Amino acid sequence: MADPIVKLAPSILAADFARLGEQVAEAEQAGADRIHVDVMDGHFVPNLSVGVPIVQSLRRVTSLPLETHLMISDADFFLDEFAEAGSDPILVHWEGNDNLHRTVQRIKALGKRAGVVINPATPAAMLEEILPDLDQVLVMTVNPGFGHQHFIHTTLPKITRIAQMIEQINPDCELAVDGGIDEATAPLVVAAGAN
Ligand code: ZN
Repeated sequence: MADPIVKLAPSILAADFARLGEQVAEAEQAGADRIHVDVMDGHFVPNLSVGVPIVQSLRRVTSLPLETHLMISDADFFLDEFAEAGSDPILVHWEGNDNLHRTVQRIKALGKRAGVVINPATPAAMLEEILPDLDQVLVMTVNPGFGHQHFIHTTLPKITRIAQMIEQINPDCELAVDGGIDEATAPLVVAAGAN
């Protein structure tokens, strides 16, 4: 098998927000493939981060895709605004969304790539029916809400199971991971099937 093509999406949670533009430029120069924008509402997760204005500002200073991870209740309510601000892909959580199929179709109707995120305790099987519609699956390898957390190793077999599902059901779908990724854990998730 050929080496997998692995893309890197550094999160703005790791940046100094006072120097966000500079730090995004540094990430771009260092070879980042896209910028991961973690949006938290203090309700869906117990923390606050950034919103639509940051996406608008970043859109002006980088040509990289702004992969936007919505950790918010009622994500549907904000899809148009994030899409207009320049978010792409737009990633929404499986948890707490009773109408996930509709949400995914709306993201695609806005002309954006759509992804679904699952938390560490959510089983891989929950993705089976939505998988044909997705451009990306994002497996949380920490509990969402904070940067700089430790990688949860029990997510590795789940990554492998989802990689197998993707191969069978939707081979063009990307398999991403989020949280605790560093020099030590990146090879583990790539070996498990993340790209
Ligand atoms: Zn994220």
